[in-house]
Amino acid sequence: MTKTAFIYHEHCELHDMGEEHPESPLRTKAIRDRLISTGLMNELIPLEAYQAKKEHVLRVHHSNYVEQLDRISPRHGLIQADPDTLMGPHTWEASYLAAGAGILAVDGVMNKAFNRAFCAVRPPGHHAEPNVTMGFCFFNNIAVAAEHAIKHHGLKKVAIIDFDVHQCNGTIEMYENRPDVMVCTSFQHPFYPNSHWAVEHPHILLTPMVAFSDFRDVRIAWEEQWLPALTAHQPEMIFISAGFDAHTKDPLGQINWQTEDYFWLTQAIAEAADQLCHGRIVSILEGGYHLEALADGAEAHIRALMA
Ligand SMILES: [Zn+2]
Repeated sequence: MTKTAFIYHEHCELHDMGEEHPESPLRTKAIRDRLISTGLMNELIPLEAYQAKKEHVLRVHHSNYVEQLDRISPRHGLIQADPDTLMGPHTWEASYLAAGAGILAVDGVMNKAFNRAFCAVRPPGHHAEPNVTMGFCFFNNIAVAAEHAIKHHGLKKVAIIDFDVHQCNGTIEMYENRPDVMVCTSFQHPFYPNSHWAVEHPHILLTPMVAFSDFRDVRIAWEEQWLPALTAHQPEMIFISAGFDAHTKDPLGQINWQTEDYFWLTQAIAEAADQLCHGRIVSILEGGYHLEALADGAEAHIRALMA
C-alpha cells in the first residue's frame, strides 16, 4: 500500500457563494464524510492545510492581482469577481488554504513523509489565470504547488494531468511557454471556457471530448499520446487537477464517465509515477458538482492512489 495523505481544512467550507451555487461547501464535506463512513480515512494520513504565503502565490499570479483580491475581500455579503465567481468574507482565507494545501503536499512528498497526497480543498484553481479570477477559481492551486516543487525543491521537470470536464485555461496560460511543465488535459469541447483549446506546443497535450461521449477517447489518448509523452518528458513529480464533473451524473458537464473510469485513469497515472518519479503524486480537487458522484469519483481516485 502506498502512503497517502489527505489534506483538508474545514475553513475551506466557510467560502460560500450562495445556496444556488454549484461550487458548494457541501462538496468537500461529501468527500470527507465518504472517507470516514467507508473507513478509508483510517488508512490515510490526515493533515490540516495551512495558508500559502503570498510569495508562493506570487510565483504564478501578478502582484497587482493578488493585491486586488486582498483589497476587495468583503467583510460582509458577496461581491462578484467574475460572472460565475463570488467573493465573501471567508473566500480570502479559503483561497490561501487551498493554495497552501498543495505546498504542504509537495513538502510531504519531497520529505518522504508520504508518497502521494489528495487535497480536498476549495475554491478550485485551474481556471484562474495569472491576472484573472474565473470559473469559481481565485488562485491556481495546482500551479502554485508545481512551482513550489520546481522553485523550492529544485525539480527540473514535472507534469500536470487535468481530467476535469472543463479545460484548464489558467494552467495552460501559465505553462504554454514552459516546456519543463507538461500539461495533459481532457475536456468537453466546445464548452466552457472555450479558450486555449487550439494551443500548439508539444508539451501541452489537449484531448477534447465531444458531448455525450464516454471514457474511451481518453483511454486511447492515455495509451497513444499521454503515456508516451510523459515517458519522454521524464517528470520528477506528477500533479493531478482532479475534477469529477465528467461523471455521467454531473449536472454541469455532458460527458458520460463512470466511477470506475476515475479508478482506471488514476491507477494508470500511479503506475506511470512508479516508473518515472518514485511514485510521487500530488492531486488537488477541481470540479465535480453532483455530490454523490463526486464522493464516488474521489473515493475511486483515492483508492487508486493508495493501492
Ligand atoms: Zn470543471
